[in-house]
Amino acid sequence: MLGLGEDLSAGANERQLWEHARALLPTRELQENMPRYTQGLMDIGATVCLPRNPSCLLCPVQPQCAAAKEGRPEAYPVKTRKLKRSAESLWLLHAQAGDGSVWLQKRPTPGVWAGLYCLPVFGSRDALEEMLPKTARRQLREVEPFVHVLTHKDLHLHPVQAVVPAEWSGAEGAWFASGEWPKLGLPAPVRKFLERSA
Ligand code: SF4
Repeated sequence: MLGLGEDLSAGANERQLWEHARALLPTRELQENMPRYTQGLMDIGATVCLPRNPSCLLCPVQPQCAAAKEGRPEAYPVKTRKLKRSAESLWLLHAQAGDGSVWLQKRPTPGVWAGLYCLPVFGSRDALEEMLPKTARRQLREVEPFVHVLTHKDLHLHPVQAVVPAEWSGAEGAWFASGEWPKLGLPAPVRKFLERSA
């Protein structure tokens, strides 16, 4: 943990935190290192570095942790204003080519799932359809929506499946074969969805 003392309720401080987070990302052998790094971070956050009761003695990054060095890890992160919970509906395009490859794009930073590979995300079903060639629009398949809970927001995710010609490049991103996408850093709900759909 960086031990940032600034109040993260302020947008400028949150942006500063994102800068630090970006600087810590792996820079080499990304195919292998990025999923390991993101999975490791999520595991530490879910099992070791709990906000009210961090288990610093068991933590693999304890030697590098500024908050633990200070001896008061529970003091971080600093946030004075309670974030209001909100909800958002998003449509996920699960585009597949004839050989089973899936179309993924890298999420912008900052934002939800920043820097991870993800199915293309749209704010509406119409916007999703617009990206597709007419032939694919006629054969869309709705998948049962599901909710993913973030710290301050409930995401209502509506996956839509489409078979798309391999030469399609309507959205930013690229095709990833069935042996490639599992090695990428993916948001947990997207990974689970793709594993269920494989
Ligand atoms: S050493 Fe403690 S405060 Fe630091 S990251 Fe690990 S669990 Fe969290």
